[in-house]
Amino acid sequence: MSIADNLLKYKSELDPISVKLIAVSKYQEADAVLEAYNAGQRVFGENIVQELVDKQAKLPQDIEWHLIGHLQTNKVKYIAPFISLIQSVDSLKLLAEINKQAAKNKRIIDCLLQIYIADEDTKFGLGFDEAVELLRSDEFAAMQNVRIVGVMGIASNNALEKQTKDEFNELKVLFDGIKVSFFRKADYFKEVSMGMSGDYKLAIEEGSTMVRIGSSIFGKRKIKHYKEEL
Ligand SMILES: *Cc1c(COP(=O)(O)O)cnc(C)c1O
Repeated sequence: MSIADNLLKYKSELDPISVKLIAVSKYQEADAVLEAYNAGQRVFGENIVQELVDKQAKLPQDIEWHLIGHLQTNKVKYIAPFISLIQSVDSLKLLAEINKQAAKNKRIIDCLLQIYIADEDTKFGLGFDEAVELLRSDEFAAMQNVRIVGVMGIASNNALEKQTKDEFNELKVLFDGIKVSFFRKADYFKEVSMGMSGDYKLAIEEGSTMVRIGSSIFGKRKIKHYKEEL
C-alpha cells in the first residue's frame, strides 16, 4: 500500500473531530513527507531537532510540525520560530527555556507535558507528582509565552493489552485531575496524546485525542543515522 492509501485508511477510521492524526515522519526522507502532504496530511511529528529543522526548511510552509522526541534545552532556539506543538516537555527547566525562546520570537508556543506511564526506565517524562509540582510552581505561573494544552504519554513496549490499556487509562485520569485542578476554565487544555501504530485503537478507547502514527503510514524508517549536528 502507498503512503496515500495508508493515510486514507486512517482518515476513514478516525473521527477527525475527536482524534487528530499526527503522521510521524522521523527517519523518513522529505519526499515521503511530501507524498503524505500531497495526499492531504498537514500535521507531522519528528523526534530529532536537526532532522526537523532540515525538513521544515525544504517542505511546504503550511505544515504543522510537532516535536515528539526528547528535547535538550540548548536546541529549543532552533525550533522556536516555527514549531506548532512541543509534545515532549519533561521538566520545568525545559519549559522555562521554551518560554524564553518563544518570547524572543514574539510567539506563544503550545506544549504538552510528557508523563511517564510505562513500566520501563528508558522513557523520558514527568511523574504524576512532578507534573503537579510544575503546574503549582510560581515560575510556571509567571510564564507568558507557553501554553500547556494537554498531556502526552508512551505506553510500555510489547506489553499485554491489559497493561497498555491501564497505562493509557492512568494518563487519562491524570489529565482529568489536572484539568479540574488547574485548567477548569481553559478550553485549550484538551489534548491527550497517546497511541502509536501498534496501540492506537486501545488509546482511542481510553480517551486519546491525538494519535502519533509512523511506521504503519510510512513503512520502515529509512534514515538510519541522523547526525545531531546543531
Ligand atoms: C516513533 C514514535 C511514534 C510512532 O511510532 P510508530 O510505532 O512508528 O507508529 C510515536 N510517538 C513517539 C514519541 C515516537 O517516538
